Amino acid sequence: MCPHCHFNTDIVKRGFYIRASDGLKIQRFNCRNCGRDFSTQTSSFDYRLRKRRINQSVFRMLAKGMSQKGCAHVLAVDPQTIARRITRFGICAKKHLRSFTSTVSEVVFDEMETFEHTKLKPLTIPLAVEKRTRRILFVDVGKIAAKGHLAQISKKKYGFRKCERKKALNRLFRHLKRISCPHATFFSDESHHYPNQIRRYFKQVKHMTFKGRKSAIIGQGEMKKGGFDPLFCLNQTAAMIRDNIKRLTRRTWCTTKKIERLLDLLHIYSFYHNQRIDGVKRPSIFNCSVSN
Ligand SMILES: [Zn+2]
Repeated sequence: MCPHCHFNTDIVKRGFYIRASDGLKIQRFNCRNCGRDFSTQTSSFDYRLRKRRINQSVFRMLAKGMSQKGCAHVLAVDPQTIARRITRFGICAKKHLRSFTSTVSEVVFDEMETFEHTKLKPLTIPLAVEKRTRRILFVDVGKIAAKGHLAQISKKKYGFRKCERKKALNRLFRHLKRISCPHATFFSDESHHYPNQIRRYFKQVKHMTFKGRKSAIIGQGEMKKGGFDPLFCLNQTAAMIRDNIKRLTRRTWCTTKKIERLLDLLHIYSFYHNQRIDGVKRPSIFNCSVSN
């Protein structure tokens, strides 16, 4: 398909070129409909990236708790080289996560919290996990207003902060509606944000709530104290996300500056996590097209 005019017909081969970065022969095409040229590279995820040899390492380092600058130092490349890849990996990983279509019957969901730049600007991360497999089904980010004694200070310093929790939860439930079976069971904590939203989107699902518990000292505050945890699969996944995305670990000086990059990293980790669950020994994000 032509990446410029999206026409499928009237495409002819027009020679090839040798890619300088790795010496690979790349086929060129010409679209007779719009007259423009393109190649098998045009819509690929590494279009015009030159250091292809580092892609695999960057992907794994990012999914294993390394900071952007950390990756850049280890691989001896410019931080911008890493940043450029995060956006592209993010697009591919999101596409992959959203393309999951099999029906799930037991879903656990909750929200994690983090912040952009300062604790005065908190963010919520709605997260849904399949209970049986611990596969990440959905992850998103939304702004929320500061709570407690920070609320006043935040308002004074940064003005009114619009709460996007409802919007983010809407996206979560819309996605769950698409992939869960009509008589599914949902598990969550007793947050008052959920019941109304669930009633709005689902008529027949069963919603079971459990009281939130005090966190154990280990496990990033996500693992809970005392015996059996009914929301274990979600809390465990949340703890893994916190541990494996550098900026989400507790007491770190790495912070989120742009919400979009946080979302990219969440998608990258989700991709890695799901591939590991599927038993893929060498999770790889390649062979993916970035165009729509
Ligand atoms: Zn065309």
